[in-house]
Amino acid sequence: MFRLRRQVYCDNNATTAVSRATRKAVNDVLAHCYANPSSPYKMAHGAAGILANARERIARAINAPTHTLLFTACATESNNALRAIVPLLPAGKQAILYNPLEHPSVLESLYWLRERGFELIALMPGDKGRITPADVGTAWRDDVGLLVCMAANNEIGAIHDVAGMAGIAHAHGARIFSDMVQALGKIPVDVSASGVDYASFSAHKIHGPKGVGALYVREGAPFAPFMLGGHQESGLRAGTESLHNIAGFAVAADGIARLLSLAPALRQKRDAFAATLKHIAPDCVFNSPCGDECLPGTLSVTFPGTANAVVMGQLDYHGVSVAAGSACNTGEDAPSHVLTGIGLTPEAARSTLRISFPHDLSEKEARYVATVFEDVLSGKAKRITALQPSQLTEEVLFAPGLFIIDLRRSEKPVYLLKPLPDSHRFPFYSIGKHLHEIPRDRPILVTCETGYDAPVIAYYLKRKGYAQLTFLMWGILGWKLSQPELYERFAGQHPRE
Ligand code: PLP
Repeated sequence: MFRLRRQVYCDNNATTAVSRATRKAVNDVLAHCYANPSSPYKMAHGAAGILANARERIARAINAPTHTLLFTACATESNNALRAIVPLLPAGKQAILYNPLEHPSVLESLYWLRERGFELIALMPGDKGRITPADVGTAWRDDVGLLVCMAANNEIGAIHDVAGMAGIAHAHGARIFSDMVQALGKIPVDVSASGVDYASFSAHKIHGPKGVGALYVREGAPFAPFMLGGHQESGLRAGTESLHNIAGFAVAADGIARLLSLAPALRQKRDAFAATLKHIAPDCVFNSPCGDECLPGTLSVTFPGTANAVVMGQLDYHGVSVAAGSACNTGEDAPSHVLTGIGLTPEAARSTLRISFPHDLSEKEARYVATVFEDVLSGKAKRITALQPSQLTEEVLFAPGLFIIDLRRSEKPVYLLKPLPDSHRFPFYSIGKHLHEIPRDRPILVTCETGYDAPVIAYYLKRKGYAQLTFLMWGILGWKLSQPELYERFAGQHPRE
């Protein structure tokens, strides 16, 4: 939809580009090897061979015996295996010691277990979200049977010494489960040497396809199937394997050594970029640990007094994609649990961006990203007026001539919030096809449900030559919270399709 001078994708902790070799492997399987690897006839033998070969290559990349690796649909599923593992812990050792800054797929699985009577004991993250083996030792209790700690945090990049933690868990006769999704490809991962009992992985974080993950289960570690059905994956995970994705995962795993070789240079570029940011915005605060304690390309940074959605919109306008430090796009406007967990206020969390550079970030791209940040933060890049929810009064709402754009995402089955009165609904992804319906001679207010889409589209319209633009900060959700009576009285009136 947006034509940009340059595009630098700086959200590589969310996902990564799929390499040409990986695409070829996926397409080859789809085209030539569609038989079910579990079937007995000759055509299926090729499929079974691809499956076995991929398992070997991925297992080799993490130094695991091949038979200890199960394929899943994603790391979310691998983490949900906790729900099957914990009930197998021996009586008297069913408490779980865990890192409260885990990914939601781990936390939600643990909360599900808590509802069923298993006790959770939260570890206390230290500075920049790090938990050390010493912290684990101090928090240990005799009834702990499982320690849950990720190898590296997805939002702030903090790396944990899971090998040190595994030593403590085993010394107490307990097990350790580690989400290694973000660590793989960024720091060396050796499940055998680290001593973890369970580890989860996802292909799309290492330039593989989406929709395939893996779960490592150390030989002898208790395990019960979590997906029930057929006998696939040695009877431990039912469901026909996603063979094309698994073949792509194997190619991506082959590339891990190259990714790791790029890590030291990437770390240097990240540090140089952080120094530039500090120069541009001296009051910015880094939430990521320094140097080797952090993933090489990750930088979480708070710009006090800014709204991350707006900065994100401006950066996006210039072709720089970053993530925001709060999950407003879930419709809950909840600041990230990781950021609040390391002591940020909800306001600071809403002023936070996560930058996660690609492994092969070029010097030119790094310079471009720094220039765009400088223009945006210094105000050199012209800003569009942001209307605070409290400023959207009845007078503003019904100001003569105001044209209100209500952005909606077509993939959302239900909208939680009603639009502003007399607003014109436009699809977020294809608004470009509707420009002829948007008047150029009237003031325009761009709105959306939770505040993330409006700045992006406002900047897009600016690029298209619209002059009288304003967008609603924090979306209709923010307005509803700020002015519930106005929302009750007017929202949803006279919508224009
Ligand atoms: N664990 C961590 C640390 C992650 O960053 C992610 C993805 O963002 C996941 C788990 C979930 O991975 P998937 O997208 O494969 O379900």
